[in-house]
Amino acid sequence: MARYTGAVCRQCRREGIKLFLKGDRCYTGKCAIDRRGYAPGQHGQRRKKISEYGIQLREKQKARRIYGVLERQFARYYDIASRSKGVTGETLLVLLESRLDNVVYRLGFARSRAEARQLVRHGHFAVNGRKVSIPSFRLRAGDIVSVREGSRSLPLFQELAEVAAARTVPAWLEAVPAELKGTVIRLPEREEIDVPVQEHLIVELYSK
Ligand code: SF4
Repeated sequence: MARYTGAVCRQCRREGIKLFLKGDRCYTGKCAIDRRGYAPGQHGQRRKKISEYGIQLREKQKARRIYGVLERQFARYYDIASRSKGVTGETLLVLLESRLDNVVYRLGFARSRAEARQLVRHGHFAVNGRKVSIPSFRLRAGDIVSVREGSRSLPLFQELAEVAAARTVPAWLEAVPAELKGTVIRLPEREEIDVPVQEHLIVELYSK
C-alpha cells in the first residue's frame, strides 16, 4: 500500500494552487504557496509555455495529489470509470470520493486526507461495525463509518470530535460527531465534489 513520501508542500507549488494537504497549516501564513507561490526547483520561477498535453497532465497530477493516490492506482480508477455507465470523468471523481480515507476526512474525523489515511491504516475505524484498515476501501450508500470502541476514549479522537462538530459535512454524508460516526447517505453528485479539477482533461489524457 504505497504512498507518496516526498515533500508535501512541493506538490501544491508544482500545481500552483493550494491543495490543502496539510490540514491546519494550510490556513496559516506558513503555507508554502503564500510564501513561495512558484514551482519548485532551480527553474521554478521561469515563465514556461505549457502544451495541451502538459495541461492535461497537470490536471491528472492535481487530482492524484488531492486524494493521495499513486499513479497505478489512479489508472486503475480510471479503468473502472471508463468501463462504467455514465460520464467517465464524473465517475472517476465519485470513485475517489467514496474512498474510506476521503470519507473520514469529509466527516471531519481527520484534519487532512493524509491524517485520515494514517488513522485508517492504524485500525481506528470500522465500517458497518467491522474493522477496516484499508484507506482505499470503497464505500457504498448506506455504509456506516465509525471510530472503533477502543479508540474513542483516546485524546486525539476527543479533539477530532470537536473538529468534526465545527465542520460542514457535504449533503451526501451525515455525521454524528458526538458518537464519532457518520453515514454515507448516497454517493455524491459532481456538483457536490468541491475539488478544483477539470475531469474532462484527465479523460482526454487517458484517451490518447
Ligand atoms: Fe499546500 Fe497546505 Fe502546504 Fe499550503 S501548507 S502548500 S496548502 S500542503
